[in-house]
Amino acid sequence: LFGGKGGAMEIIDITVALHDAIPSWPGSCGFKLTQVTDLQHGDGCNGSHVTMDSHCGTHVDAPWHFLPDGTTAERLDLSKFIGPAYVAKVDDAHRAITAAVLDGLKIAKEVKRLLLRTSNSLFWARQERSFQKNFVAITADGAQWIVDRGLELVGIDYLSIQPFDAPSTTHQVILSAEIAVLEGLNLSSVEPGEYELICLPLKVVGGDGAPARAILRR
Ligand SMILES: [Zn+2]
Repeated sequence: LFGGKGGAMEIIDITVALHDAIPSWPGSCGFKLTQVTDLQHGDGCNGSHVTMDSHCGTHVDAPWHFLPDGTTAERLDLSKFIGPAYVAKVDDAHRAITAAVLDGLKIAKEVKRLLLRTSNSLFWARQERSFQKNFVAITADGAQWIVDRGLELVGIDYLSIQPFDAPSTTHQVILSAEIAVLEGLNLSSVEPGEYELICLPLKVVGGDGAPARAILRR
């Protein structure tokens, strides 16, 4: 649990905080924590109910989200979510992540888990409260590039891997290949490079997606 020099291993939390004002997809119920018991009012404990969209904040998509016969959240292969990962910085000039943009990142052959840091991370860094439709996402040909490269996981720093209002092709191509999809990451304080990713989606039976805690270590 400790690094080679005796210090505690660096843990970078790339999870977005869940709170009532978190931006969420238009039409979503978002996230709400409602206190139902209260020590100060004589109850035996503080307790609350959580209401949330399964795609709120940092979460994974299960293939069933876009594929009628797809895997549901409780059956996701956790080995894809844990292990060496590479954080790549997409230049802010790119408003979409195409195959050409991915080629330009010069990602090493060994990389199996790719996290894409884009200008989206600034939305989290400046605690933007409204949903941002102009987020950077992966085009259909970018999705095919990811499949052809044989990645096990792709992650991005806003609420969808595919552009707002785009057809579902990006999701369909990536989820059909059983590539793990991690969305809603905050990579604003993460330098590009190699890390160990640890991400565990909640075991939601029949889930089309699941909230997750995601951290990087190095
Ligand atoms: Zn999602």
